[in-house]
Amino acid sequence: MADRYLSFTGTAPGRFLTRRLGLPQPAALRRWSPGSPGFVGGVLHLTAGKSELSGPAFPEFPSPSDAPAAVLLDATGVRDVEGLAEVHAALHPVVRSVDASGRVVVLGAPLSSGDHHQAAAQQALEGFTRSLGKEIGRGRTVNLVRLTDTSAAESTLRFLLSPKSAYVSGQVIEVGQPQEVDVDIDRDLPLAGRTALVTGGARGIGAAVAETLARDGARVVVLDVPGASADAERLAARLGGSSLALDVTAPDAGARIAEALPDCLDVLVHNAGITRDRRLANMPAERWSSVLDVNLASVLRTTDALLETGTLRRGGRIVATASIAGLAGNTGQTNYGASKAGVVGLVRSLAPRAAAEHGVTVNAVAPGFIETKMTAAIPLFIREAGRRMNSLGQGGLPVDVAETTAWLAHPASGAVNGQVVRVCGQSLLGA
Ligand code: NAD
Repeated sequence: MADRYLSFTGTAPGRFLTRRLGLPQPAALRRWSPGSPGFVGGVLHLTAGKSELSGPAFPEFPSPSDAPAAVLLDATGVRDVEGLAEVHAALHPVVRSVDASGRVVVLGAPLSSGDHHQAAAQQALEGFTRSLGKEIGRGRTVNLVRLTDTSAAESTLRFLLSPKSAYVSGQVIEVGQPQEVDVDIDRDLPLAGRTALVTGGARGIGAAVAETLARDGARVVVLDVPGASADAERLAARLGGSSLALDVTAPDAGARIAEALPDCLDVLVHNAGITRDRRLANMPAERWSSVLDVNLASVLRTTDALLETGTLRRGGRIVATASIAGLAGNTGQTNYGASKAGVVGLVRSLAPRAAAEHGVTVNAVAPGFIETKMTAAIPLFIREAGRRMNSLGQGGLPVDVAETTAWLAHPASGAVNGQVVRVCGQSLLGA
């Protein structure tokens, strides 16, 4: 559904009127398109404290010729309150000059359990990042990456410094230790030779995920309920992939996926999801169980089956779909909020074991308000509030979730594990 307010504020009379009335003025976000550069523009590299990063120097990010499009601040060496003054000193003079739709990425260190001054200073970076994200405006985003070694962080920084992360702001992402990386990754087709399965892929966010993974070279299998098979087949044919008509709640769904994928699978995207909203007092058991079954139980069952049978190969990626409703809660969504919080629990518990036992990462995307048929069905005033109540003042697009999924699915993202990344424009709902 088109965001008419955003279109209106992009016109001269719209800008004039909204300024005079003190109404929000969301910026049109710059997103990736074929042929557009990988970075939002020149990256200004700053340091606060003495860097504690190990590993090779970061690859050459483009330098700014004039005002920076992005600022990368290495604050891993900030160990105390005095060190935080260096964060202020580094960013205060430049923050205003960062381009519209630009990026600020702060690099932080893991919190020390033996040094509470370091832990306080590093935790302070989180409040700093989230606050700057709320005030910076003009479609600019601010994120924090916690890491110790540069060699595992390239795919994450490339994503956050690119137009592909347009709707990701106010996030704290942990990058762990480097994993075995396929040295021959084609930068334009990183998923070449890999197979990706997207549940609920016939429309909405799932269709965008399927398109984006296919753009990155994957052979995509579009799974959806038999009632959506015409759409699934059409999309799969366009992407040179295949479709699978299957209800993910079928008890043998895992076995049927394994059977349909004799050559195994590299990327499993749990995207299928439903809402059946009612306040708890009015919610029949059927509404509760159908949502829990599609959004959570089937995710658990198929994940277990595909790991146990080895259908998901070593080096594989699982990306599940949570929601900010699972993090913040939402009126009328006790069933949906429970199911999506369950997805977060699954990710946090399984991630370290799946990496150790199967060589597979497990992460989640948590969309905020994304413009799809699901959100088009929300009553007008609630819909308008959902759209505006975030730092970017607008809803996201399915492609924003898809690009985040593609980064998590990237062969070089093996050190990103157990993360729940919100794609919500820094929604005011939840942490
Ligand atoms: P959508 O309703 O447009 O698409 C969901 C797809 O899942 C449909 O194609 C549907 O047929 C399929 N599906 C439903 N039940 C299925 C089942 N049992 N087996 C197989 N396929 C099934 O929804 P969307 O807005 O694109 O949402 C996609 C995911 O993102 C969902 O998990 C949703 O909860 C989550 N999400 C969406 C938003 C948003 O703002 N749209 C926000 C947060 C989270």
